[in-house]
Amino acid sequence: MSDCLFCKIIAGDIPSEKVYEDDEHYAFNDINPKAPTHVLVIPKLHLATLSECNDPTLLGKLMDRVRFIADDLLHLSAGYRVVINVREGGGQEVFHLHIHILGGKKLPF
Ligand code: 5GP
Ligand code: ZN
Repeated sequence: MSDCLFCKIIAGDIPSEKVYEDDEHYAFNDINPKAPTHVLVIPKLHLATLSECNDPTLLGKLMDRVRFIADDLLHLSAGYRVVINVREGGGQEVFHLHIHILGGKKLPF
């Protein structure tokens, strides 16, 4: 989608600190990290929110990549938090489905 910030990041039109990429997913450091490690994992397919996605295969693969990135790439062995903000009421600001991985310190509730 041409006016979507994260689609522009996937396309390389806006720079990002890439953490992981495959044919269907892209992961990069959050520009305003809320924890020592704060990575965003996104499907390359533009979907505005979790509510808009009724594809269990896509969601399963996306969550599998979150686990792979957090455990096998970032080695967040002490643990981490996975967050999806959904629409305005959930605090979503960028309307391209994304999963936050937060770690690197003991996270407050
Ligand atoms: P949301 O509130 O939509 O769940 O999270 C959006 C996240 O995207 C925020 O944590 C914000 O810091 C991050 N973000 C916004 N703009 C950019 C950007 O241009 N580059 C990167 N790397 N992260 C961004
Ligand atoms: Zn998009």
